[in-house]
Amino acid sequence: MPRDDVAKGEARSQILTTVRDWVQKEVEPLSMKYERDNIYPQELIDQMAAMGLFGMNVPEEYGGLDLDYTTFAMVFEEVAKGWMAVTGPLGTHHIMTYIVRNYGTEEQKRRFLPRMARGEMRCGLGLTEPNAGTDNQAMTTVARRDGEEYVVNGTKMFITNGMNGHAVALLAKTNPNATPPHRGISCFIAEKGAGFSVGRELDKLGYRGVDTVELIFQDYRCPADNLVGGVEGQGFRQVMSALEAGRINIAARAVGVATAAFERAVKYAQQRKTFGRPIGEHQAVQLMLADMYTKLQAARLLTYDAARKKDSGERVDMETGMAKLYASEVCAQIAMDAMRIHGGYGYIKDLPLERYYRDAPLMIIGEGTNEILRTVIARQLLQRYKV
Ligand SMILES: Cc1cc2nc3c(=O)[nH]c(=O)nc-3n(C[C@H](O)[C@H](O)[C@H](O)COP(=O)(O)OP(=O)(O)OC[C@H]3O[C@@H](n4cnc5c(N)ncnc54)[C@H](O)[C@@H]3O)c2cc1C
Repeated sequence: MPRDDVAKGEARSQILTTVRDWVQKEVEPLSMKYERDNIYPQELIDQMAAMGLFGMNVPEEYGGLDLDYTTFAMVFEEVAKGWMAVTGPLGTHHIMTYIVRNYGTEEQKRRFLPRMARGEMRCGLGLTEPNAGTDNQAMTTVARRDGEEYVVNGTKMFITNGMNGHAVALLAKTNPNATPPHRGISCFIAEKGAGFSVGRELDKLGYRGVDTVELIFQDYRCPADNLVGGVEGQGFRQVMSALEAGRINIAARAVGVATAAFERAVKYAQQRKTFGRPIGEHQAVQLMLADMYTKLQAARLLTYDAARKKDSGERVDMETGMAKLYASEVCAQIAMDAMRIHGGYGYIKDLPLERYYRDAPLMIIGEGTNEILRTVIARQLLQRYKV
C-alpha cells in the first residue's frame, strides 16, 4: 500500500476509535432521557467541537480535519448508532461548510471557515419553505440589493440547527422573474442579526432533542460580501452539489441506526427463550435476521461506494441518491424487524428500539425525498443507457 494510504488508514482508524469511545461513554448514556424530554444536547455539541468534528470537511489550512468522504461517512455511522439526532446539527453544518469551501471567495473562506471548523459558528441550511420543499425553485424568499447589502424577506421551514446555530446558508431569489427560476436563486451566508428571527419550534415524531424550526426574515440586511462566491444566480447549483455530498451523510446515518437495531436484535435472539429454546433458533426469526443483515451490508457498501467515488472526484448524484434511497428504506425495515424480534419489549420506551423506528423515516424524507431521488436516478439511467 502506498505510504499516503497507510497514513490515511491510520488517521481514519484513530478518529473512528475516538468517536466510538465517545459515543459509548457520552452519547448513549444521555440519549434515552434527552430524547424523551426533548433536551438539546449542548454538552455533546461542545464535545464534538472539541474533537474537531465540525471541521471534518474543512481544509487543514483553514483549521479543519479535511477528512475523505469515506471517513466522513463512517463518523456519521458511528454517531448515529448512539443517537441519530446528534448527527443533525453536524450534517446540516457540513452542507454550509461544503458550500463555502467549494464556492466561497478566498475572503469568505478566510473569514468563515476557521470559525466553522472550530464549531464556534455552527450552521444550517435555509432552503425549504412552507410551500416549497421538493419543488424548491418555487421559493418566494426574495433578496433585493440595496447598496452594499441585500434586504431579505421570506420564511424558511423545517430548519435544523435554526435555533441553536449561528448562521444558515440562505437560498433566496435575487431575480424572481428568471426563467428557469433556478437562475434567479442565490446563496447567502446569513448570520443571525436584526430581522432574522426564529418562529415556531416544530415538535417531531423522532429526531428529538435537536431543533427544527421556522425562520422568519423580515427586512433582514445581509452584507453583499456574504453572497457566496460574489455572484448572483449560482445558489441553486451550489446547494444541489452540497446536497449530493449531504446524501452520503444521510445514508450513513441510516446505516448507523440500522446497525444499532440489528445488533440489539441478534443479541436478544440468543437471550430470549420461548418453547424452551432461544428465539434465534426458530426459523422465522432466523429468516428475519438473515434478511436484516443482508440489507444492512448492501446499504453500507452502497454508502461507502458513493463516498469513495465522491473522493475520486467523479460525478455522484446517482450513486449518492441510490445510497440514500436504499439505506433509508432498509433502515426503516430493519428498525421494524428489530422491534418485532423484541416482541412487546420492543414497543416499550425502556429500550431504544421504538426510537430507531421513529427516527428512521426522517432519512426517507430529508435531503430529497426518496420519491424525487428515484426520478433523479432514473434520469441518469436513461442517459447512461441511451439508445
Ligand atoms: C425533521 C426535518 C428536518 C429538516 N431539516 C431541513 C433543513 O435543515 N433545511 C432545509 O432546508 N430543509 C429541511 N427539511 C425539509 C425537507 O428537506 C423537506 O421536508 C423535503 O424536501 C420534502 O419537502 P416537503 O416537506 O415540502 O414535501 P413536498 O415537496 O410537499 O412533498 C410531498 C410528497 O410529494 C412527493 N413529491 C413531491 N414532488 C414530487 C415529484 N415531482 N415526483 C414524485 N413525488 C413528488 C414527495 O416525495 C412527498 O412524498 C427538514 C425536514 C424535516 C422533516
